[in-house]
Amino acid sequence: MTKAKKLPILPPAMLGILGGGQLGRMFTVAAKQMGYGVTVLDPDPHAPAAALADKHICAPFDDLGALADLSTCAAITTEFENVNAQAMRALASETRVCPSGDCVEITQNRIQEKAWIAKAGLKTAPYLPVTRAEELTDEAVEPLLPGVLKTAMLGYDGKGQIRVSTPEEARTAFEKLGKVPCVLEKMLNLHSEISVIVCRLNNQQVKCFPPAENRHEDGILAYSIVPARLPDEVQQRAQAMACQLADALNYIGVLAVEIFVIGADHELIVNEMAPRPHNSGHYTLDACASSQFEQQVRIMCGLPPADTRLLSCCSMANLLGDVWLPDGKVNWQPLLQRPDVHLHLYGKKDARPGRKMGHFTVLSGQSADIAFMLAHKLQRQL
Ligand code: ADP
Ligand code: MG
Repeated sequence: MTKAKKLPILPPAMLGILGGGQLGRMFTVAAKQMGYGVTVLDPDPHAPAAALADKHICAPFDDLGALADLSTCAAITTEFENVNAQAMRALASETRVCPSGDCVEITQNRIQEKAWIAKAGLKTAPYLPVTRAEELTDEAVEPLLPGVLKTAMLGYDGKGQIRVSTPEEARTAFEKLGKVPCVLEKMLNLHSEISVIVCRLNNQQVKCFPPAENRHEDGILAYSIVPARLPDEVQQRAQAMACQLADALNYIGVLAVEIFVIGADHELIVNEMAPRPHNSGHYTLDACASSQFEQQVRIMCGLPPADTRLLSCCSMANLLGDVWLPDGKVNWQPLLQRPDVHLHLYGKKDARPGRKMGHFTVLSGQSADIAFMLAHKLQRQL
């Protein structure tokens, strides 16, 4: 249980965050804008958030001295799910921690995560938890083919996943992934993919952002399109599902829920969730009445979630390290000269293929389609 604090926590209180990547950096901007101080814990001396934070504790995430230092903050949050949940629970005996270590722990592990999704009364893709090679019998695997074997922990951007089309391939894939706990999931025929960001302070104060329609390239999010090009009824159903999941977890904070849309009747299946703001919610920075990062600040401080209204149709495009290669230079003029484009760069030094370096959002007064077409065209020109 998180230590009882006098709420709400108001500026200029010091807020702490585990992790100083781009999500931590955008959190820091939101918190500073609202008048709070920010302390970032991250072992990387060049962590993107560190340059903007008031204080950077440059130490490993399990360093006891560093955690004690962080625990003097009025509230603590996280920018990634692979933090030590035990450390979060320990911090919670000293200060307010949102989301809870328990919730973070559930989202760290696909096996636990899927069990919780089912417990919340929602559907996942058919799957088999796999902890030993012997569990991959022909009988167990065949109904899940073609399938995808995913490591239960530490996967992101499509990493730690192998597609399989026979039981033999499934067993080989399990070996290749190092015989760590996995889930074998049936590959679904996707109509589209969407995600919903839910901001929950308690069972009375919950708000969802409009679903984003997400396009991936090589397993990495490439574009979000908002509003998603789906009937209103489907969008409402997706938001209700995200709220249902947050309620079941008694979640406090910002939760991202990835959802598969299946078939012409738009059946909705939960893929996975993240206990934090999400890449597919970056559009909120430029297109909504509040951003997902402002919501993260508000909820950790015990303030009600702000208005989540979409103010403009938009499309967000990720900028990966590939754009910087081979010479490390990019001409930003085509983006910056446009009044309808908003550029965000994360201040990362080294561009590597597939590394998330920034994003831009195109706004359109007309439609999400137009915003998406323009985002796609501009992306190709870089
Ligand atoms: P990550 O943690 O890397 O985001 P995901 O489970 O979200 O892992 O998988 C990444 C992408 O792979 C998904 O966004 C989707 O495009 C595709 N994918 C994953 N699982 C399935 C599935 N069961 N059926 C169809 N596509 C899938
Ligand atoms: Mg995913």
